[in-house]
Amino acid sequence: MDDNIIKLEYVTFSYESDDEKKTLPPAVKDVYLTVKEGDFVAVLGHNGSGKSTLAKLCNAIAVPQKGKVFVNGMDTSDENNDIDIKKTVGMVFQNPDNQLVATIVEDDVAFGLENLGMKPELIRERVDEALKMVGMYELRERQPHTLSGGQKQRVAIAGIVAMQTKCIVFDEPTAMLDPRGRQEVMNTVKYLNKELGITVIYITHFMDEAVQADRVVVMDDGVIILDGTPKEVFKNAKKLKDVGLDVPQLTQLAHELKKEGIDMPDDILDVDEFVNVIKELI
Ligand code: ADP
Ligand code: MG
Repeated sequence: MDDNIIKLEYVTFSYESDDEKKTLPPAVKDVYLTVKEGDFVAVLGHNGSGKSTLAKLCNAIAVPQKGKVFVNGMDTSDENNDIDIKKTVGMVFQNPDNQLVATIVEDDVAFGLENLGMKPELIRERVDEALKMVGMYELRERQPHTLSGGQKQRVAIAGIVAMQTKCIVFDEPTAMLDPRGRQEVMNTVKYLNKELGITVIYITHFMDEAVQADRVVVMDDGVIILDGTPKEVFKNAKKLKDVGLDVPQLTQLAHELKKEGIDMPDDILDVDEFVNVIKELI
């Protein structure tokens, strides 16, 4: 066994067509991807590029027709591994309203643990701990519908944190949130990764979120076209543009200035770096 928590070995997955005579083109094609424990990987790609399918392959919601997926060494095509895989990899989805089931915040966070048949005292402990981790402990007795989008999403995250999964796959968790909610969720995700060591796979179409990951994987039409640190990936402005993606705003600005003959590096990602370069120039 290796130290990869997730490993996709040349994985191809096609959805079944409603019309039996037709076969759908694969949503994920021959993808090889490994994620190590503790990694924070962002996955970028325009609509329909296969990101959500990749997410589903990571915790056996989808099983490949070709190739294999391993979660902590467990083959996802073996049904006997299903429970252990779901205990290892949790998922957070786009719409918080679809993920919250109970009428009180703390009951919602307890839901998954109750399903596992855990003792009430232990559930209490885990729920309180998880709510503190996401900064929602003070609001534990509130009704979810009275919360903001960002707060609801943090409750959904607490539900997964309470399960103590080693890895969490976030599928565009901020797509429906306002800027403040997006920031709250992003800060929570970073905290889970940096402070608790939870492996994070973070699907997004926001460049400013992707730059905060340690590694960025870019998908197009079911394949991985770029994989590297944010700096390595966002240097490829042309390639990203060709598949309908942007680079972060400051990277773009630096590229435009370079075109005008100003000596700018092509891998600037944030304000601090930008300011430092300008200071050197004047
Ligand atoms: P993304 O999350 O990047 O938008 P998806 O993984 O959802 O991409 O979709 C990849 C491809 O698979 C798309 O062409 C999409 O239309 C198709 N697809 C997704 N879900 C289904 C489904 N349940 N049935 C049939 N085709 C699907
Ligand atoms: Mg999707």
